[in-house]
Amino acid sequence: MNGQMMQLPLLTSSLLVHAQRHHSDQEIVSRRVEGDVHRYTYADLARRARQLANAVAALDVTEGGRVATLAWNGYRHMELYYAVSGSGRVLNTINPRLHADQVTYIADHAENEVLFFDITFLPLVESIADRVSTVRHFVALIDKDKMPSSSRIPNLLCYEDLVEAQSASYDWPMLDEQTAATLCYTSGTTGNPKGVLYSHRSTLLHTFAAALPDSLGCSAADVILPVVPMFHVNAWGLPYAACMTGAKLVMPGAGLDGKSLYELFEAEGVTMAAGVPTVWQGLLNHVQSNGLKFSTMRRTVIGGSACPPAMVRTFEQDYNVHVVHAWGMTELSPLGTVCAFKAKHLAQNAEQRQAVQAKQGRAVFGVDMKIVSPDGAELPCDGVQTGDLLVRGHWVVSRYFKEEGEGHLQDGWFPTGDVAKIDPDGYMQITDRSKDVIKSGGEWIGSIDLENIAMAHPAVAMAACIAAKHPKWDERPLLVVMLKPGAQVTRDELLAFYDGKIAKWWTPDDVAFVDSIPLGATGKMLKHRLREQFKDYHLPTA
Ligand code: ADP
Repeated sequence: MNGQMMQLPLLTSSLLVHAQRHHSDQEIVSRRVEGDVHRYTYADLARRARQLANAVAALDVTEGGRVATLAWNGYRHMELYYAVSGSGRVLNTINPRLHADQVTYIADHAENEVLFFDITFLPLVESIADRVSTVRHFVALIDKDKMPSSSRIPNLLCYEDLVEAQSASYDWPMLDEQTAATLCYTSGTTGNPKGVLYSHRSTLLHTFAAALPDSLGCSAADVILPVVPMFHVNAWGLPYAACMTGAKLVMPGAGLDGKSLYELFEAEGVTMAAGVPTVWQGLLNHVQSNGLKFSTMRRTVIGGSACPPAMVRTFEQDYNVHVVHAWGMTELSPLGTVCAFKAKHLAQNAEQRQAVQAKQGRAVFGVDMKIVSPDGAELPCDGVQTGDLLVRGHWVVSRYFKEEGEGHLQDGWFPTGDVAKIDPDGYMQITDRSKDVIKSGGEWIGSIDLENIAMAHPAVAMAACIAAKHPKWDERPLLVVMLKPGAQVTRDELLAFYDGKIAKWWTPDDVAFVDSIPLGATGKMLKHRLREQFKDYHLPTA
């Protein structure tokens, strides 16, 4: 017997309608490329998104057609999120920090029909304009009076012209909830980027999960600042969760340095923020060197790479900001696990709690996970054994865009490429990416633990641990270190810093000091570049 409840499709446009009807005067504040701070409300967002939906139709974007953005976090990007998907087209947010060849590859692969871009990226767009074969219109996200006086792009359109020309009367279509809504490409540290095509349904279910208290925990009383870019896996779902909960939204635009972020946090009363560890490093440096405090910030979500325990300690102990460690990936929309405490942890001391926070967290309902041995056998969740991490769930990719079949799945589970352990309480901890793991004498050494320890040393700004060739052990860990400006520490002092913190044989064999560690387009250390750089490195043999 079937249930007898209403059947409303799960559509992103319903989030916008909800925000407009029930949180109409809530604010969205954006730092703009024009140089000022712009503010308007959810009612304004909804009105302009309807105008934009009409504008996209006027540009003859086909049903299901792809529309690209190269843009910072801001209100116009929000309008594109809702108007493009809500009208039955697909928004493809491209990471502007990628190399021009990769941007071109993605735009072609997605067959984008229109490209909307922040004026910051005009040189990039000019350099690829005659190479992106399917793009019919280029639209600058800027006020009319700030349009460039000349450009190598013929018929460059102004976003504000397009929106203003349209009526605000538009009925969001009742799409099938399986309709594609957005398309994100993995940053592709190896090979070409791969597209993940999210549906309205998967996005809505992910939004419910993201908003939960033990997840990102969003509420109408929050002021949320997504530092994580809207071009990186939909800013971890926050643009949707904000509409679902009616939170105030603060968009940082291009100002991602510590000073700009801190000023926005204080001016707008930000209570919650989300971003990758490298961004928080910049913010903490600014706050520490200027003797500042956060007056409203209560918690920060940190993910994308492992959050070093030293960073957890600094936020919690020095600034009274609660750290929520999270793990996910493009293929997971992106949320997989979030590190929220259970009741028993609340009674523990700070040190014990921080040991929990070093882990990537518990599965969010909607994503299941397990670890397996190389032959696919499930391993116990004993907090000791490590294995390949597999996941499945409502917002996990089943196949990549334009790829046939589900060949990359393992018995219906998605292999994440991460190596992890899971403890009896269900907390998962990533020990490595499978390709970064160091294999010493047939045993695995997890590079993340070694990096976390180095990062706790006061002289270290950034640390990467990579495998270096060793005549006896095959591979041994080499610690590559970038020091803080003016700081000094010797190789032996750093290696001694590992004493008692880790099994002796895990201690790196050597330290290489470098001026900088290469970062990828999403702020992650590019360890394959370091491996290349140090491929002929001779470890000292004892
Ligand atoms: P890409 O692999 O293309 O960089 P993503 O941005 O989707 O794509 O990154 C996903 C990967 O980032 C994960 O598989 C994992 O290796 C890493 N990652 C994400 N969050 C964390 C975290 N909290 N701790 C450790 N690694 C993380």
